[in-house]
Amino acid sequence: MVRRLLVAGNWKMNASRAMVSELLGQLATLSATDRDVLVCPPFPYLVPAAAELAGSGILMGAQNCAAEAFGAFTGEVSAAMLADVNCQYVILGHSERRSLYGETDELVLTKMRQVLDQGLKVILCVGESLQERQAGQEESVVGGQLALALAKLGDDDWKQMVVAYEPVWAIGTGETATPAQAQAMHAFIRAQLAARAEWIAAETRVLYGGSVKADNAAELFSQPDIDGGLVGGASLDVGQFTAICMA
Ligand code: PEP
Repeated sequence: MVRRLLVAGNWKMNASRAMVSELLGQLATLSATDRDVLVCPPFPYLVPAAAELAGSGILMGAQNCAAEAFGAFTGEVSAAMLADVNCQYVILGHSERRSLYGETDELVLTKMRQVLDQGLKVILCVGESLQERQAGQEESVVGGQLALALAKLGDDDWKQMVVAYEPVWAIGTGETATPAQAQAMHAFIRAQLAARAEWIAAETRVLYGGSVKADNAAELFSQPDIDGGLVGGASLDVGQFTAICMA
């Protein structure tokens, strides 16, 4: 089975209303028929972003969502709201959410349920820290982060899942995993998926994230088990991001 390449831009807490028009206005002219391109702006910019992207074929997603469906949760944004403003994807379990906001695998699973129940797709981020890699624990950490999703999500859920391998030591550091290091971890992730079901391993896209740039994207994306990228910093530079999308 041929997996369609996906390049996703995670803007994090960056940009402005003016940047939404400028960046997405230019990006909307990108013709990427053989791959999916996704942008994930901060919550307040989802509505103007959807307007900029209308008719472009470029997909839109959010960077997080609430673990609850609705109600007295001041400051939270529900998966239903994200669906309502035309998001198609939600990034969950990003290492910044795990390390800065204490998100556990259990919480990420609860959020995944919310997102999937709204008919949206999940990008589940997994990845080890530098300390964990130096201790040779990268497979046990990543395997652990995948375990609940593999055990608790149903077959229909897995049809809506994307996994992003993001070694924490490569996020925003300018240090990228070598293509061989990344491929080895992607092969490991695919083996975990295969242990659940061969079709899940064959069909689920596994993205690489961690200082993806225009000059390293092509080599990373050409690895057999890498199906595109989750791009942070470089997604805010339209020239860089366009080059990564076309890599
Ligand atoms: C990210 O935050 O998901 C990421 C990969 O960031 P960067 O590309 O800046 O390393």
